[in-house]
Amino acid sequence: MTNLLEFDRDALAAFCEQLGEKRFRATQLFRWIHHRGASDFEQMSDLAKSLREKLAGRAVISTMPVISEQASSDGTIKWLFDVGAGNAVETVFIPEVDRGTLCVSSQAGCAVGCRFCSTGHQGFSRNLTTGEIVAQLWFAEHRLRDTLKLADGQRAIDNVVMMGMGEPLQNYAALVPALRTMLDDHAYGLSRRRVTVSTSGVVPMIDRLREDCPVALAVSLHAPDDVLRDSLVPLNRKYPIDELLEACKRYLSAAPRDFITFEYCMLDGVNDTPEHARELVRLVKGRVPCKFNLIPFNPFPASGLTRSPRERVMAFADVLLAAGIVTTVRKTRGDDIDAACGQLAGEVQDRTHARERLARQRQTIPIAVAGGPP
Ligand code: SAH
Ligand code: SF4
Repeated sequence: MTNLLEFDRDALAAFCEQLGEKRFRATQLFRWIHHRGASDFEQMSDLAKSLREKLAGRAVISTMPVISEQASSDGTIKWLFDVGAGNAVETVFIPEVDRGTLCVSSQAGCAVGCRFCSTGHQGFSRNLTTGEIVAQLWFAEHRLRDTLKLADGQRAIDNVVMMGMGEPLQNYAALVPALRTMLDDHAYGLSRRRVTVSTSGVVPMIDRLREDCPVALAVSLHAPDDVLRDSLVPLNRKYPIDELLEACKRYLSAAPRDFITFEYCMLDGVNDTPEHARELVRLVKGRVPCKFNLIPFNPFPASGLTRSPRERVMAFADVLLAAGIVTTVRKTRGDDIDAACGQLAGEVQDRTHARERLARQRQTIPIAVAGGPP
């Protein structure tokens, strides 16, 4: 059985052709799947019965099993999906006053192994398929429309960030068709500015993304010099800061936004002094149009690191702001359910833990989303 969530619209058209159908049927089918959230071919009333039967014999529309759903007191919702062989990935919905953001995973685990990241500590299990990436959005969007009782045509998610588990640019082949589905007007119709790929700096793939499917780009910088960055983001040894910044500059020629977002995780006593901030200014100023997003470190026991105190984060931001660089400090969301940045670990190997999550899930449904999307 083929899972139709694996296909962008072009690939679905090719699949329809294989079934002896006209390519344009794919558009109808695509709309049923992604606009309407249909998973049963019988529902698709404007498709010929013969096609529906053919599809039912060959294809499914299905998500990975949901192990748990947890809602935070701030409205954030986290789902844990079972991706088989003891692996799980997490997806987080973050409601804001003016938009609904979904934080999507691209891999089970991550091979980059950043020191401050819980996913990195877990090691790499496997790449997600296109269908598993898209399924996170498909499931969350339609689940939220139901639970939030949204009117027809209203959508719950209008912003996607590839900031869940994994390094999206190390799963490039699966990522691009997934991005295309997110952008497709017959599916989610998200604006290129509202789909963000976040990367630790896979330089050749930044160049390919610029050619194949330019969306907003966030780069996880975390340090102003190679010695420090080597120790925090091991991939820096392969693609050092200079090369990374040049790739960022090239990316801007095709990017839907005229700046790169640099993410910078604030680690107490490691990368958070005013001198680090001044070095950053010297590094990027006049070279890469950018914004900085400072992320308060979300601790987890194995990291041995702690969060920079608030005053130090503010002093750091002041140095960047004084140099004319737009700087924001990320609000931590969902930390009471371990859904904050860098806390996603997909702990399914510990089955006992999974059982606890299931118990909590029963307590947290139905979802009450405070300050949800319009
Ligand atoms: N692999 C990609 C995307 C996933 S991580 C990347 O590294 O960009 C998404 C963001 O969360 C990155 O900016 C990452 O540096 C940040 N992050 C990871 N661990 C964190 C932690 N413990 N606290 C705060 N932010 C963290
Ligand atoms: Fe991987 Fe990103 Fe975590 Fe680094 S921060 S280990 S690249 S998921």
